[in-house]
Amino acid sequence: MSGGYRPPLEGVLRITRWDQVPDGWFTRGQLARLDPPRRPARDAVPQGQVLYHGNSYAPLFALADTVPKRRASAAQRAALARARQLQWVCRRCGWRDPHPDAAPLGRGRVCLGCAATQAAFGRHRQATRNARWMLDGWLSGRALALVVDNLEDPSELAVAGRGFRETLTLPPSADGTAAVAAVQRVSAQVAEHLDACERVLCWTDAHTVRHALRRILVPDLPWPSQDDLDPGALHAARSRVNAEALRRAGDPGWLAKAKWREVVDEYAPWYGQPGDCTVLEQGRFRPDRRLPLAADTTAGALDALLDNLMAVAYNDRPTSARAPWHTNPAALDTPER
Ligand SMILES: [Zn+2]
Repeated sequence: MSGGYRPPLEGVLRITRWDQVPDGWFTRGQLARLDPPRRPARDAVPQGQVLYHGNSYAPLFALADTVPKRRASAAQRAALARARQLQWVCRRCGWRDPHPDAAPLGRGRVCLGCAATQAAFGRHRQATRNARWMLDGWLSGRALALVVDNLEDPSELAVAGRGFRETLTLPPSADGTAAVAAVQRVSAQVAEHLDACERVLCWTDAHTVRHALRRILVPDLPWPSQDDLDPGALHAARSRVNAEALRRAGDPGWLAKAKWREVVDEYAPWYGQPGDCTVLEQGRFRPDRRLPLAADTTAGALDALLDNLMAVAYNDRPTSARAPWHTNPAALDTPER
């Protein structure tokens, strides 16, 4: 008897002990175990029902109301066995778990490797949509692309928006006035050429770059340290330094309010170079965060940033030969180039 609780049938004799079941009355399970096996006839009505598992009732049928159970043909049994076997075989790549106690693959019948490949390919396509959104922002004069030579301590800054580009030398870190002048020059270009600067596109470490640019505006103010202050006071103190930095530069929207985005966050899943992966990690990428195609200059790096952004947005360049969708194309409905 399988399954869970089975309530008693209404108006059918209840029998609470197996030894009270009259001879010649059988449950479905007992009928199936007869040799040859039988089952209730199509219109058979139970004569009674017997209690089992303490709270469930199994209907009882008189032998006269039963018919021989047709045995599955050899072909049907073979088909059933094959279907059972297939529960362990990936529908996509044909992989079979060699472990004798492996669980069946379950709904969808896709192995972990193929599932990871499908997830990676989904992220690859999402990256293209995201990059297009970034590029649209740039083309419509609402975004700025920005590169610095040194993430922690920038001495050169290259920026480009729709209709302008500039490379600025940032002064040595003690000279706040010159830093303010450089930041204001970017702001003037933004004001002249862009409708609004809602986004700043960096290749990587947007937070670090933004922080470094704010810091050079106030070389005279020490950055509040977590060694000296409790978290609440630390946050307030850092906010004050930030506010002072932005005030000196004239509160430039691109440095103060715009959302800073990292192009590498789309490039890496688009390119699909896996880390040292196990099957489970195939969908994860530990990208090389250097800028592909980047030259030695910040201006060259800026070109490379925009070029790579376009490659992702238009998906018109080869992706990594080790990308899961290349190494396991069977996982996908539609193979990728
Ligand atoms: Zn598979």
